[in-house]
Amino acid sequence: MAVIERINHGPVSGIRVGRFNKGINTTFVVYQYQDVLIDTGPINQWQYINKFVDEKDLNHVLITHHHEDHSGNAYHLLKQKKLSVLTNNLCQQLLKQTYSIPFIQKLIWGTAKAVSAQLLPANFISDQGLNLDIILTPGHTEDMSCFHDKENGFLFTGDLYIASKVRYYHKDEDLEKQIQSLNKVLTLDFDTAFCPHRGIMKNGKKDITNKRDFILELSSTVKSLAKSGLPVKEIRKQLLGKEDMFTLMSKFHFTKQGLIDACLALPENP
Ligand SMILES: [Zn+2]
Repeated sequence: MAVIERINHGPVSGIRVGRFNKGINTTFVVYQYQDVLIDTGPINQWQYINKFVDEKDLNHVLITHHHEDHSGNAYHLLKQKKLSVLTNNLCQQLLKQTYSIPFIQKLIWGTAKAVSAQLLPANFISDQGLNLDIILTPGHTEDMSCFHDKENGFLFTGDLYIASKVRYYHKDEDLEKQIQSLNKVLTLDFDTAFCPHRGIMKNGKKDITNKRDFILELSSTVKSLAKSGLPVKEIRKQLLGKEDMFTLMSKFHFTKQGLIDACLALPENP
């Protein structure tokens, strides 16, 4: 599959790539902002990322978290393009290894190669002067950060958002930390959010608020149904339906039941 979409928003450009064009969960947007590339796209799309990078005058690659769609080309960008690859401390440790991932992820994204990244300071200034604050936002994974450009009101959200209405839960997620991270970015000054799956969100702050509120409402519904004596499996059926092909193909890494259980365990004021 060729490049699916070219994206432009003021000073930010991007390309959406993906081996399969089956919606936002199988495609990925790599963003370029001045001399900085935000996340790398999956390794099986290197040929397109390679061309995109050659069109730009880049010095750095900032990685939000270690997942293979975000970090897959870090190795090529460092070794072939000689760009500085930077990320937070925890992600840095995780990128030093290769991971065995479920077949479905291998099929969609490919397996990332291990890479030695540099440590991102809390405030990053690129060679061309782009100024980004690094906001630690664990929850989707423990090692995730968002990048905030306060001057233009831009937020690069990694996988903090993806969708407002959550239906599945990954076994590595932490819902309480997700709510805390959503609350944390909502205190920042921004309008536009850049999601590598959803794309550009012009009302990003509103969308992120909606996601936070959706989870809190779902959690309160789950809790009141549990209080009324409904078994958790019945709550899942009633609110989210049966587990489906997506869960099966992910080898139960993504489940609806996990989301119901996490909602039930969520403290009253996370
Ligand atoms: Zn991720």
